[in-house]
Amino acid sequence: MEQLLEKYQTMGISPAVYQLGEKTIEKIRPRFDEIDKIAEYNQAKVLAAMQKNRVSAACFAGTTGYGYDDVGRDNLERVYADVFHTEAALVRPQITCGTHALTVALSANLLPGDELLSPVGLPYDTLQEVIGIRESPCSLKEYGVSYRQVDLTENGTFDYEGIQKAINEKTKLVTIQRSKGYATRPTFSVAQIGELIRFIKNIKPDIVCMVDNCYGEFVETIEPSDVGADMVVGSLIKNPGGGLAPIGGYICGTKTCVDRCAFRLSAPGLGQEVGANLGIMTALYQGFFLAPTVVAGALKGAIFAANLYEPFGYNCVPNATESRHDIIQAVELGSEDAMIAFCKGIQAAAPVDSFATPLPWDMPGYNDKVIMAAGAFIQGSSIELSADGPIRPPYAVYFQGGLTWLHAKTGILMSLQQLVDAKLVEL
Ligand SMILES: *Cc1c(COP(=O)(O)O)cnc(C)c1O
Repeated sequence: MEQLLEKYQTMGISPAVYQLGEKTIEKIRPRFDEIDKIAEYNQAKVLAAMQKNRVSAACFAGTTGYGYDDVGRDNLERVYADVFHTEAALVRPQITCGTHALTVALSANLLPGDELLSPVGLPYDTLQEVIGIRESPCSLKEYGVSYRQVDLTENGTFDYEGIQKAINEKTKLVTIQRSKGYATRPTFSVAQIGELIRFIKNIKPDIVCMVDNCYGEFVETIEPSDVGADMVVGSLIKNPGGGLAPIGGYICGTKTCVDRCAFRLSAPGLGQEVGANLGIMTALYQGFFLAPTVVAGALKGAIFAANLYEPFGYNCVPNATESRHDIIQAVELGSEDAMIAFCKGIQAAAPVDSFATPLPWDMPGYNDKVIMAAGAFIQGSSIELSADGPIRPPYAVYFQGGLTWLHAKTGILMSLQQLVDAKLVEL
């Protein structure tokens, strides 16, 4: 369409970059159809849960103070529990982010003398201080919880022998990170996670298996809680918030685990009874309702990026043809300059703060300098189009989100344009 090309040109996208984008999209159409099918299933799943729990206007009323008898809050937790097929759920604006949700889940279910095991290598950067892998006041380590880790094998699979050896009488909880985070290992499918959980429970049935589900929600038709996870944990400013949730985190799981989480989050004895919703229930319900299609758009963007960048020789994780288990696309750009150029493009494409220039900085909770491009309606929301990465080899940029596929497309085209303009890529 002539008109569209002209519009893109006024935004700085050259005809050559646009045409390359169109050719790439033609190639991946069948995969878009598959994504839409998964979204359709998940949409039905969320819709059915809302209908079953008789969501009504009364659920959207704001509460303040203690938040006793908060109908909307309590019902949203039932909706989440039904979608994740768990006995219970804790879904709260008082959970400030994903790291906080994971911290609550861990510290509520680990006691002094217990051991935590990660059978999937080093956990996400911010969790390292939570666990005490990097020293921090109030870490689990400081409270007498020990930690053990089994790295993945060289080809990114579970080291079953190592895991078997690592499990001992102290092992209380296993943390399984679904998404690769800031690593270049593969993201696990829900089926793979199920296999790992079965293996662990065979050795020691009473181990609590927790899955860090960040970025994984609604990518497949099943969730880790469908394959034996005792707790699945995530952030509402990622997938399940659908871009509308202004804050929050969730923990879905067994009643025993979730009750403990609620006691940890508020206070022993109070648990889920307190916690006012502060008037954000509409956003949490509506965001959850939109989440399956928002995730589908983000997935399309990720696949588009891999297929656009891989032909230039950049290693992409996952690669252009692999199946997807989260919304993150890593592109190994090989240099700090290329990371900056990529992020500039994403930033320039944003609806908010498009005039800002992203630069590497020392972000709290992270060990290396981090560059972040985000022009989000909700601060730090990474279901919105965003790109970030630690400044360290292989200089990978982690690209994710896009509230709509079309915005993701624009951002990716603008990132490539920046690399072309900086003469880092030749068309
Ligand atoms: C984002 C993320 C977290 C932490 O979430 P925040 O909301 O940034 O605190 C934890 N684990 C994984 C895998 C993540 O992607």
